[in-house]
Amino acid sequence: MKLLDEIIEYNQQFIEAKKYEEFTTTKFPEKKAVVLSCMDTRLVELLPRAMNMKNGDIKIVKSAGALVSHPFGSIMRSILVAVYELNAEEVYVIGHHDCGMSKIDSQTLLDKAIERGIPEKRIEVLEYSGIDFKQWLKSFGSVEESVKDSVAVVRNHPLLPADVPVHGLVIDPGTGKLDVVDNGYHTN
Ligand SMILES: [Zn+2]
Repeated sequence: MKLLDEIIEYNQQFIEAKKYEEFTTTKFPEKKAVVLSCMDTRLVELLPRAMNMKNGDIKIVKSAGALVSHPFGSIMRSILVAVYELNAEEVYVIGHHDCGMSKIDSQTLLDKAIERGIPEKRIEVLEYSGIDFKQWLKSFGSVEESVKDSVAVVRNHPLLPADVPVHGLVIDPGTGKLDVVDNGYHTN
C-alpha cells in the first residue's frame, strides 16, 4: 500500500475512535512561546518532549537547519504572526548537532537535480538571471554560530517588539540535551 493510502486508511480509524480528544487545545500557546527548529526526523517528538512541551504549549516553526535565511521571508513572518496574533512572548531558535544543513554542498545538490532530470540549461538560465545558488544553498560550519546568526536576524528585526526575548539553543538529537548558546533574558 502506498503511503498516502496508508495515511488515509489510518486516519479514518483515528477519527472513528475519537483519538483526537486527547489533543484538544486552542491555537494560542499555553506557554506563550514560539520555537524555530530544524525539520530533522529525530526531533519530531524528541524536541517537544525534551522541553516538556505538549500539544497546545508552543508554536513550532521549522526550516532546514533552523535557519532564518531572509528577514522578510516566510519563517520570519511566521514568528511575527506568533508574536502579534497568537500571544507568543518569547522566541526560541533551536539548532541541533549533526544537522544535514551543515553538510549541504550546493554543487552536489545541483548535480543531483540534473541526475533527476532537471535540465542543466535551466540551472544556467537561473544563474544568469541572478539566482545565487551558492548563497541560497549554503551550509554552515558551526551550529552554535548558525544559531547565533538566526537569533540576531530575529532579535534585530525592525518589526519585533523590544520586550520579546530571543534565545538560542542547540539540542543533541541523540539524547535531547539542550545547551543555551544565547540567553535572550540577558540582552533586554
Ligand atoms: Zn537539521
